[in-house]
Amino acid sequence: MSKTISIIVPCFNEQESVPLFYAAVEKVAAQLPDHAIEYLFINDGSADQTLPAMRTLQAQDPEHVHYISFSRNFGKEAALYAGLQAATGDYVAVMDVDLQDPPALLPEMIQGIEVEGYDCVGTRRTTRAGEPPVRSFFAKKFYQIINHISQTKIVDGARDYRLMTRQMVDAILEMTEYNRFSKGIFSWVGFDTKYLEYQNQDRVAGTTSWSFWGLFKYSLDGIVTFSETPLAIASFIGFFSFIIASIALIFIIIRAIIFGDPTSGWPSLISVVLMIGGLQLLCLGIVGKYIGKIYLEVKNRPVYIVKEKK
Ligand code: UDP
Ligand code: MG
Repeated sequence: MSKTISIIVPCFNEQESVPLFYAAVEKVAAQLPDHAIEYLFINDGSADQTLPAMRTLQAQDPEHVHYISFSRNFGKEAALYAGLQAATGDYVAVMDVDLQDPPALLPEMIQGIEVEGYDCVGTRRTTRAGEPPVRSFFAKKFYQIINHISQTKIVDGARDYRLMTRQMVDAILEMTEYNRFSKGIFSWVGFDTKYLEYQNQDRVAGTTSWSFWGLFKYSLDGIVTFSETPLAIASFIGFFSFIIASIALIFIIIRAIIFGDPTSGWPSLISVVLMIGGLQLLCLGIVGKYIGKIYLEVKNRPVYIVKEKK
């Protein structure tokens, strides 16, 4: 029996890429006679002609092409979630529309699942050529930090591009959290994953929607949603300062008893007050970050809102 592969494609201001993507995947699909492809384009509140481009494709190939259009930009994570919920295929692939995720890897991914028995075949970039060096440096640091402090391991350079079995997709859908960090979620659900490696590809069209600051915030979110270590660091700092302060206090009392107490030490006093104040604010900030996440989580808002669907 022929299996269906659902391909989830999040799109944000990608009017040129959408038709190019479809053509590129159709070329690969022609080499896969035993598999039917279902396209699920998600328009994540694009301001350009992305939605009309999707409507055109859908009219051309109504049986295989579907799209979901959000009422505004909800972010790639929300788009992926919407796609996973709507996908009906036996296997589900997640792919960027800018062709930075080479569709030519699909046959190898299918083989990984059907022949080698993996539940998921993911991809990782071995090079970051074409990327600003500062970004590569921080990306490397991010993987080091999160793998150090989180139980959930994230492979360095792993992309969202992957093919998963229905069983794994259902497991992911059980995770209904509002703060979605897909790289962590894919790893958290477990299952056997094989990684294919490839060289970094340039976008076919359009520009990346990630600024350096955007990526930085995204990586902090990843750490906060998948690790409690920063909270432990906060209490450790508190405990450590308490010990230091206690030792200093004993020292000062003994010194006062032995040598008397000439009034001095104003600068050191102020320094200590400022330092402890700073540490307290830092720890409050860490705690606040988690409270912010809890706040968004308990509001239980929908992850996305659909305006149009076909
Ligand atoms: N994307 C999205 N919503 C957003 C930002 C990006 O759906 O708010 C999509 C985008 O259209 C692309 C994918 O997510 O298909 C990856 O984005 P991009 O290529 O900008 O990121 P990069 O490849 O530079 O990491
Ligand atoms: Mg890209």
